[in-house]
Amino acid sequence: MSKITWTTVGGGPEVGANCYLVSAAGKQIVLDSGSHPKKEGLAGLPGFSLIRKAPDGVLVTHGHVDHCGSLPVLIRHFPATRVYATKPTLSIVDRMLHNSVSVMGTIALERGITEYPLYSHTEVEDALRGAYGLGFNQEFALTIDGEVRASFHHSGHVLGSASVLLRTPGHNLFYTGDICVADQELMSGLTPLSEDEKVDTLVIECTYGASPRADGLVLEDEIQRFGREAAKVIERGGSVLAPSFALGRTQELLNVVARLQQEGTLPQTTVYASGLGRAIYEIYEKFPEYLKPGANLSPMRSFKRIGDVWERGVARELLREPSVIVATSGMMIENTPSAMIAQEMVRDKRHGIFFVGYLDPETLGHKLLYGGKGASHLFELSGHPVKVELDNLQSFHFSAHAPRRALRSVIDHIKPRNLVFVHGDEKAIQWMSDSSPDTCRKYIPTMGQTVTLDA
Ligand SMILES: [Zn+2]
Ligand SMILES: [Zn+2]
Repeated sequence: MSKITWTTVGGGPEVGANCYLVSAAGKQIVLDSGSHPKKEGLAGLPGFSLIRKAPDGVLVTHGHVDHCGSLPVLIRHFPATRVYATKPTLSIVDRMLHNSVSVMGTIALERGITEYPLYSHTEVEDALRGAYGLGFNQEFALTIDGEVRASFHHSGHVLGSASVLLRTPGHNLFYTGDICVADQELMSGLTPLSEDEKVDTLVIECTYGASPRADGLVLEDEIQRFGREAAKVIERGGSVLAPSFALGRTQELLNVVARLQQEGTLPQTTVYASGLGRAIYEIYEKFPEYLKPGANLSPMRSFKRIGDVWERGVARELLREPSVIVATSGMMIENTPSAMIAQEMVRDKRHGIFFVGYLDPETLGHKLLYGGKGASHLFELSGHPVKVELDNLQSFHFSAHAPRRALRSVIDHIKPRNLVFVHGDEKAIQWMSDSSPDTCRKYIPTMGQTVTLDA
């Protein structure tokens, strides 16, 4: 009775379409239903054919698309399966998925990807109708007989983000989701699981497993460095662009900028925020009890709307006066607000472009940062390459993921029998596995693989 199985339906040893199937006591639970941030069309979906009967529930840890982006497709296959998430996560997932429908529609037109959109606005509504919104540490039954139970635990990553404790007969599993141990500007670090909880299997994210640099960084030092560098740009009449993910980084950074202005590190200039980031900001305002105690959330009206940067002249107009601009996408994918603004900015050396998150090597953001002055890039797919004149391209480490030393401390605290490593590249997962105690049984299940876990 104490055996369970774990199947990687998507994600596993990469940061991809996270989706996992847990089978225990004849019941089936799905953890997360993401879409791959880099793959397009149907290739970006988890392998749903691995799920052969309707799951008893799907639990979504947070609103980033690598954890929720395929939920409407899963529910299309299994309409009777109920969705569970924290209350803020449900609101965020709703905004993120409707935005995905619009983005997929645009890509379908621009690039002729006929598989897009993968789902409709109606299917987003169908998936979330009847979804259960829960608080932290509130145990709930996933099956009528009450044999499988679960609870969400504050994971410190973004608003409402959770780890999941799954209790099945004779076997408890803890899935971290994405975690941040240290406090951020708005989020407090994760709440450690009570010492009394016995966890047989710990499934842990490994994002920073290959990054020793992240271990030694102090967030406040990076914040002050950002402030000093941004002040230099503004004082010489330029603007600062900080490409940011819509969920998490945008809200955190806007409040960092507001504090730096209050403290006098940054001059009082206009601060701009782009569309989806603003929509998510409204949800942060709705759930103040989920923010760090004492977090001083600036009202969203203190940040100006960017406007339609695809209209001729709008980006140029935006840059007439010095300002700080927080715009999606974080990795500066072509045709997104950050790319459209950067296209205008790179022609003028007064400005600065400051990256504040992870950059995939394939993305425009990475090419721009490391290509430096003199390189030419295509910012708008239907446009022409633009030569970079500015040389103030920098990166700052503002992560919402735990560095590897903190990930290790989570393992030491929970002391599981089995360790399953997910959500990291090959090197990251290998480091985590190599440095974990050999008293644990260790698993790195690949895509489509099922492992049996003993209590
Ligand atoms: Zn995340
Ligand atoms: Zn993730």
